Amino acid sequence: MNILILGSGGREHALAWKTAASPFADKLYCAPGNAGIAREAQCVALDLADHKVVIAFCQANKIDFVVVGPEVPLVAGIVDDLEAAGIKAFGPSKWAARLEGSKGFTKDLCKANKIPTAAYERFKAAAAAKDYVRKKGAPIVVKADGLAAGKGVVVAESVAEAEAAIDMMFGGGLGERAWEIVIEDCLIGEEASFFALCDGETAIALASAQDHKRVGDGDKGPNTGGMGAYSPAPIMTPEMNARVMDEIIMPTVRAMKAMGAPYKGVLFAGLMITKGGPQLIEYNVRFGDPETQVLMLRLMSDLVPALIAARDGQLKNFDLRWVPDAALTVVMAAKGYPGAYKKGTLIEGLDAAAQVEGMEIFHAGTMTKTGEGEKIFSNGGRVLNVCARGNTVREAQQRAYSAIDKINWPDGFCRRDIGWQAIAREQR
Ligand code: AMP
Repeated sequence: MNILILGSGGREHALAWKTAASPFADKLYCAPGNAGIAREAQCVALDLADHKVVIAFCQANKIDFVVVGPEVPLVAGIVDDLEAAGIKAFGPSKWAARLEGSKGFTKDLCKANKIPTAAYERFKAAAAAKDYVRKKGAPIVVKADGLAAGKGVVVAESVAEAEAAIDMMFGGGLGERAWEIVIEDCLIGEEASFFALCDGETAIALASAQDHKRVGDGDKGPNTGGMGAYSPAPIMTPEMNARVMDEIIMPTVRAMKAMGAPYKGVLFAGLMITKGGPQLIEYNVRFGDPETQVLMLRLMSDLVPALIAARDGQLKNFDLRWVPDAALTVVMAAKGYPGAYKKGTLIEGLDAAAQVEGMEIFHAGTMTKTGEGEKIFSNGGRVLNVCARGNTVREAQQRAYSAIDKINWPDGFCRRDIGWQAIAREQR
């Protein structure tokens, strides 16, 4: 098969690495890709917002299957457009991608189907939203309805902070003025990421993972796209996995089918594991980044037939196997991230780092430069995913940091404590 992966981050590098290893993959392309992905796939500079261009590329290159990485093209309906042109694609339709595209839609779906989630209200104007916040008190969570690249959520510690967030969102502080916000109770517990492959009717759980969203050690500082992750998440016991499937994932799959928007693709549930059980924080309609990097390291089965079975509605008799090892990834980011940072800085020592046992380095934002040969330069905020497998999270962590110590990138930084919660549990 000729396969095209859409996207350019560490998630897509991990998907490309796993896809390239499949006997089903003949020619592998990635658009737009990055310098690391270029080792697994032929990178092509396509504008993913221009669906006609993507379709024309698929037709010209006889693409049999498209795997969509990021949420923006999914919410914009790229899968609908590809399928209408006769090209098979992995990912939800535009209608089903509302599970990520609209927080209000998802909250209403949860309420109607008794899926556990924080109590909430939806608001279209600031005055009523502020009245509600004053009535409920703090802590309280304020969320803009649409996609906001992870910046649309404020966990407010005080009523004043919540009011400021309401003004910021309705005032255009996220780029565009929010047309609607959701205000919900603050959940207390430990977070986990849960992934299920869905074919419109059936869902199968993938492995669990936990990520680190804050930029600094000790989970301090501003939120980021993710500074590291590990799998499995020890909090996700077999019993907890079963509860998440029964109480959250399957009711969602049934509800989406019943409303004529069957969900196909990977469903990524952000969970809070509270004393009373799992609660849904939010849905994403694609693989997580950086969780996918550790999931792909642990996936023993071939990825390609699993994705095709999800698209074809054939997951019922499907099974996936995972290696029992732990996997961990540390994100190396450009100094300044998640604020302003420089691009185009030289990174050396990657080959030496890749020699460490159990290592895989996925590129998230890198490039080469004309006239500079094979040299690798930064090209984004999150730049590298240094991943390792080990018998325990602790061993995977030690390997990842010993590889990082071989990387010479004066303009980069990373957290030094990825996996601390799991390691603390292992040492108990
Ligand atoms: P989201 O984009 O909805 O995943 O929210 C980003 C982060 O905000 C989550 O990973 C949580 O850490 C936090 N968060 C969101 N909603 C809640 C909630 N209801 N209670 C506590 N924390 C939350």
